[in-house]
Amino acid sequence: MRVLVFSTKPYDRKFLDAENMHHGHELRYVEARLTSETAILAADAEAVCVFVNDLLGADVLRQLADRGVRLVALRCAGFNNVDLAAAGSLGTRIARVPAYSPFAVAEHTVGMMLALNRRLHRAYARVREGNFALDGLLGFDLNRRTAGIIGTGKIGSVVARILHGFGCQILAHDVRPDPECAAWDVRYVDLPELLAASDIVTLHCPLTPATHHLIDAAALRQVRHGVMLINTSRGALIDTRAVIAALKSGTIGFLGLDVYEEEADLFFEDLSGQVIHDDVFARLLTFPNVLITGHQAFFTEEALTNIAQTTLANVTAFEERGEALHEVSVERLA
Ligand code: NAD
Repeated sequence: MRVLVFSTKPYDRKFLDAENMHHGHELRYVEARLTSETAILAADAEAVCVFVNDLLGADVLRQLADRGVRLVALRCAGFNNVDLAAAGSLGTRIARVPAYSPFAVAEHTVGMMLALNRRLHRAYARVREGNFALDGLLGFDLNRRTAGIIGTGKIGSVVARILHGFGCQILAHDVRPDPECAAWDVRYVDLPELLAASDIVTLHCPLTPATHHLIDAAALRQVRHGVMLINTSRGALIDTRAVIAALKSGTIGFLGLDVYEEEADLFFEDLSGQVIHDDVFARLLTFPNVLITGHQAFFTEEALTNIAQTTLANVTAFEERGEALHEVSVERLA
């Protein structure tokens, strides 16, 4: 099939080209993000391949459909950037990569916890400056602390297992508790109880209307003073302004973010020579107890290999049978 790949980075091309040896699709790459202005690039494509910050609202989907695009192959798990109802009414199929390496994201999540707790980001800079003082680097043992995991799907359940290995007590909250997790030491509780009892709160649920700003000012009034909050899921799960207020008051003692509500204008680009115009993001960067990575939790060899394999398997299945392997639609979610 003729596939136009949006938001291409050199690593996307490397892994997709290698996998395409087994498929033989006509892949064309553009660096541009898919928006209503760039949809025109898909003029002769039958499918488009997109990533987390490409915009697939009704307008863009309509433009793609008018140009003959019948399949949108997401090379990610989340699909909060797609108007599924509009896709359904246009007859555009949406496929995704439901799982590529829960370990990649889970391990990055725990890496953030360790770095924040033991202030490795500060220690690294200090030692390079010849400053070997320990003041300000005091951490705490993870052993016997309580970790609250919101969303125990593929990624959250791996986080639970890793933290269990550290000797943490695991609380979880999920609209669909996982019997496998419940069978070992994970205790499912409601959200207020999780927030009130956890030393660490980590988010692993999808972004949906129900989870938008799940961590807002009201939720932050329920947490333990000095809580560690980690979000490697989707930026809009937390209300960033409320989180900044909680950092200023000390309610949040540590914040680790791999995602940000307005990341589309920032992440995945080298902006080191430019002024950052997002004042909320710039304020976050000023806190010594905040660690931000630019949506890199997925970024491992294994994950990129699996993403390329599943993405092209979706395209091939659609070409051969008219249905991709991992489609998502309003009907399937109902
Ligand atoms: P998953 O579907 O396996 O698990 C999500 C879990 O969240 C499910 O168990 C579901 O029941 C639960 N859930 C849904 N609504 C909820 C709610 N209102 N409250 C509590 N729990 C709720 O998904 P996954 O593969 O574990 O991925 C989780 C999220 O991680 C994805 O949606 C995506 O946004 C994010 N992600 C981030 C990266 C990254 O690089 N930072 C990479 C992959 C995925």
